Amino acid sequence: MKFTNHIAIIGCGIAGLTLACALRKFNIETVIFERNAELNEFGAGISLSKNALQIFDRLNMLENIKSSSYQPDKAVWHYKKNKFYEISIDTFTASRQNLIRVLYNEYIKLGGEIFFNHEVSNILNDGKTIEFKDLKSYVIKHVAACDGIKSNIRKISFSGTKNITYSGFNAWRFLGKNKNKNINFHLDSKSHIINYPIDDNLNQSVVAIIKNKTWHNESWKQESTIEEFLDVFKNQREYLEPMINDNQKIFKWGIFVRPFLKEIYCENMTLFGDAAHPIVPFLGQGGCMAIEDSYTFALLLNKLDMNIPMVQKIYSKLRIQRNNKIARMSLQQARLNHIENYYLASLRNIIMKKSNVISSRTNYIWEYDAHIQVERELKNYSFNKTTNI
Ligand SMILES: Cc1cc2nc3c(=O)[nH]c(=O)nc-3n(C[C@H](O)[C@H](O)[C@H](O)COP(=O)(O)OP(=O)(O)OC[C@H]3O[C@@H](n4cnc5c(N)ncnc54)[C@H](O)[C@@H]3O)c2cc1C
Repeated sequence: MKFTNHIAIIGCGIAGLTLACALRKFNIETVIFERNAELNEFGAGISLSKNALQIFDRLNMLENIKSSSYQPDKAVWHYKKNKFYEISIDTFTASRQNLIRVLYNEYIKLGGEIFFNHEVSNILNDGKTIEFKDLKSYVIKHVAACDGIKSNIRKISFSGTKNITYSGFNAWRFLGKNKNKNINFHLDSKSHIINYPIDDNLNQSVVAIIKNKTWHNESWKQESTIEEFLDVFKNQREYLEPMINDNQKIFKWGIFVRPFLKEIYCENMTLFGDAAHPIVPFLGQGGCMAIEDSYTFALLLNKLDMNIPMVQKIYSKLRIQRNNKIARMSLQQARLNHIENYYLASLRNIIMKKSNVISSRTNYIWEYDAHIQVERELKNYSFNKTTNI
């Protein structure tokens, strides 16, 4: 098989599939290599804010995404069981499985190729050859590493990636039931809970976070029990228990912080999504950043006539600025959510209610338009498209 004209996308998650669809829309050859035997998203929810939705709109995929998602009425904040603030939102919530299925179907419709059971083990020849676990190898045009938070490509080809630290927070998740139609944030001194519907049946994605000195493994597959969960979150038992189904599966994991990279490309390889910027999940923006990354790269390739070295430089500059800022805001959000002192927490709640702090934060995140950012950036360069900068 020959892939010398193909962008080889490693990983079939949100980043890999969005990149694949965007590239195919620009008629760029692609192939996806995924280590799993099939589409394999875990049962969990994801919220998609305007910055991501407008990208799907530009790619003519928004209607399909919307029809397999839910549109919550509002985002509502509670402190120690009392509601204190709410805003209107323009956000869709979905099950990850549904989102991945929609992206995958779109990619196949666009004539995209995908190989399951293909785990990349090494990158050779300055990024021009990929080698798989079974030692098969392919020569490709470019490596787009979309292989997630524990990216092997990031580990083997990028320096400064080893220093991983525990964030101080453990998380639990499950898909439960509730009749509430909003995105709900329940804040307390050491914990916070986020729940929202992911479909018209109001099935709920529930994520509960707790501050703790000891941590669990960083794994999305480690099961907990209902008893353990309710014991850890005993202050919120009254709220959580009715959302738990019979035979409920509950998962737990530790949240870790990884260092920022100086560049998100090297040689003939570029990083996307969690592989490029693994962020803590307190703003619910990791997937949206992956979508912004993917569209930015595809648009640049299209506008710069496939001049990959030039695209890598501009992509890295644009995305590092944006992703690092969001990653810092996300860590800051965790600290704000878990203020322990009652009076300070009350002050935080008053500031949220009376000032424009929430709207200025959400505007910064949600009003970003990746398309306009690319056009603006390209105006800064007076270059001949074929010369390197
Ligand atoms: C609790 C929680 C809540 C979140 N909520 C939100 C939210 O509401 N909104 C939001 O935008 N984001 C949210 N996020 C973040 C979001 O889920 C991630 O940022 C996003 O899924 C990352 O997508 P990705 O494609 O980069 O990685 P992944 O989804 O991890 O995909 C990586 C893919 O690469 C494959 N792979 C890995 N290694 C190899 C290899 N060597 N060879 C071949 N294939 C390989 C994997 O099998 C996988 O399919 C949340 C995260 C968490 C933990």
